[in-house]
Amino acid sequence: MDKISPSQKLTLVNHFRNNVPVDVEGLSFALGVPVTYADLADNISGMIEPHPRGGFQIFINRKHPRTRQRFTIAHELGHYINHANLIGSGIGDDRAYRSADTGRYKNAVIGPKQETEANRFAATVLMPLEAIHAIQHREGINDPSVLAKRFEVSEHAMHIRMGVPYEPHPLLF
Ligand SMILES: [Zn+2]
Repeated sequence: MDKISPSQKLTLVNHFRNNVPVDVEGLSFALGVPVTYADLADNISGMIEPHPRGGFQIFINRKHPRTRQRFTIAHELGHYINHANLIGSGIGDDRAYRSADTGRYKNAVIGPKQETEANRFAATVLMPLEAIHAIQHREGINDPSVLAKRFEVSEHAMHIRMGVPYEPHPLLF
């Protein structure tokens, strides 16, 4: 049912990583995993589940900010690329990217290890280090908040990717 081989999937992933901001939705469709923006509970970021016609499909909370939606698509693709065999009847992710008890699915085989794998995949896809380094060297831009805008990710995600301790603005809390 899966017409794309593992090496073809990685070739596609790397192809899409060449252009920043990475077209993660285009990547998902290219992998044969359609993305639908849906009315999900506020604490649910997204889900991946089997498609009725074979393969898988992703649902994204349509009310969440674009940067979160992009990270969620990449995270769900991480579940697909790293352990599609564990998706079962589906995986629901809460805002912290834990398989949600409150979602439609209670997937007992998806634990912290799989969530870390999916998060690592998402960071790798959306924030290629080569692209970050190229912008740093070519344009002298080192500010994570500026880079976050270029890559269409949250400042928080970019801080983590760059290994910069994230200090929230004191007036925003
Ligand atoms: Zn997850």
